Amino acid sequence: MDNARANDQLTQWDHDHFFHPSTHLGQFARREMGNRIIQKADGVRITDREGKTSLDAFAGLYCVNVGYGRTEIADAIAEQAHELAYYHSYVGHGTEASITLSRMIAERAPEGLNHVYYGLSGSDANETNIKLVWYYNNILGRPEKKKIISRWRGYHGSGLMTGSLTGLHLFHQKFDLPLSQVIHTEAPYYYRRDDLSMSEDQFTAHCAAELEALIEREGADTIAAFIGEPVLGTGGIVPPPAGYWDAIQKVLKKHDILLIADEVVTGFGRLGTMMGSDHYGLKPDLITIAKGLTSAYAPLSGSIVSDRMWEVLERGTDENGPIGHGWTYSAHPIGAAAGVANLKLLDSMNLVSNAGEVGAYLNKAMTEAIGGHAHVGEVRGEGMLCAVELVKDRDDRVYFDASEKVGARVVAAMLDRGIIARAMPQGDIIGFAPPFSLTREEADEIVAATKAAVEEVL
Ligand code: PLP
Repeated sequence: MDNARANDQLTQWDHDHFFHPSTHLGQFARREMGNRIIQKADGVRITDREGKTSLDAFAGLYCVNVGYGRTEIADAIAEQAHELAYYHSYVGHGTEASITLSRMIAERAPEGLNHVYYGLSGSDANETNIKLVWYYNNILGRPEKKKIISRWRGYHGSGLMTGSLTGLHLFHQKFDLPLSQVIHTEAPYYYRRDDLSMSEDQFTAHCAAELEALIEREGADTIAAFIGEPVLGTGGIVPPPAGYWDAIQKVLKKHDILLIADEVVTGFGRLGTMMGSDHYGLKPDLITIAKGLTSAYAPLSGSIVSDRMWEVLERGTDENGPIGHGWTYSAHPIGAAAGVANLKLLDSMNLVSNAGEVGAYLNKAMTEAIGGHAHVGEVRGEGMLCAVELVKDRDDRVYFDASEKVGARVVAAMLDRGIIARAMPQGDIIGFAPPFSLTREEADEIVAATKAAVEEVL
């Protein structure tokens, strides 16, 4: 069958049968919106079945960090599948790949975090984290200390608990979320501060004071943990204001509240450092990892557990028997083999430092190209993350009416120019998170298309 006919048939089946995530179901079913069938990819570019190639400036969903088409990872997956496609990891079972990967992760994690529990997605890893936090406080004999603080605009997944932790309205409304154990505090979003006269330091102090006030209102003895991404990701790609993590960690320490660093996006190099925790001096009790662990060549996530928590978990099993938590696919050999090959590739291709260097170049070039545009409120980023926030009125930071769909239109205009960027939720924010192998020339392509698209739409 030629591609055109095959696409016709696939397109029909797609609209009739495929329940796509994060998609307007009615528009898709009625074919008011199109589909795109991706066929192959290489380096930073993907190609669809119509033969159209695009530079993927969002690395899938900020996950294909080493770039597409890496045969080293594909070969490792194939070898593992031939030798042993599956065995479980319950009751002390493992594979060479899962044990080696655990060691490699512990070597790359901040000091004092040495054990890894494996899942398949960032969402399930965060579900695991919350269960571990609750178990920990039960073993310590403080059953009331259970609430979790998250931030507005944080993104931690879309399960029942993790969708609750996520601080974006679309993930709550009509789903009866957030669950009652989750409370939200202020987003560290300096550009959107209420009081424009506040300096960055004052805003940091304000965020810490808001957190402290929330803890006091709820009672520190009811609050177990605080979860946050080192840099807000899906909530708008927002690096924290200066001194933020120091100030927050002081408050948490004072009230004996655990810190969960959600490094699903920042883990393994996205900020130009191995972990985002290193970048900002975080000392977490748990770290969530996923995307960059395998660069999405196979699904795999993890919860890295601190020694402090591990000791209590061990004690818990001495008192209560084996831990009652496990997934069939924990440490799946194929995911683990992909993880080992991916982390080796990050090192051998020097990709973490490239992410830092070319990411800085991309941010600078983007700022120079469109930072002064009348509808660009802010260009911001860190490492290989960049965002352009579009506003109706630059002086007063006024949002466009959501019905104008400015962000989506700019992203569509970019796609016409061969570049994939992402319209982030809650505002008109164009997000960029390219593979770490991006070159300066490719960064220039992204900037040129962004500038042309913004000028076309606005
Ligand atoms: N945590 C963060 C910071 C994320 O960005 C995401 C996904 O984008 C998740 C958790 C959820 O991961 P998943 O979509 O694999 O469940």
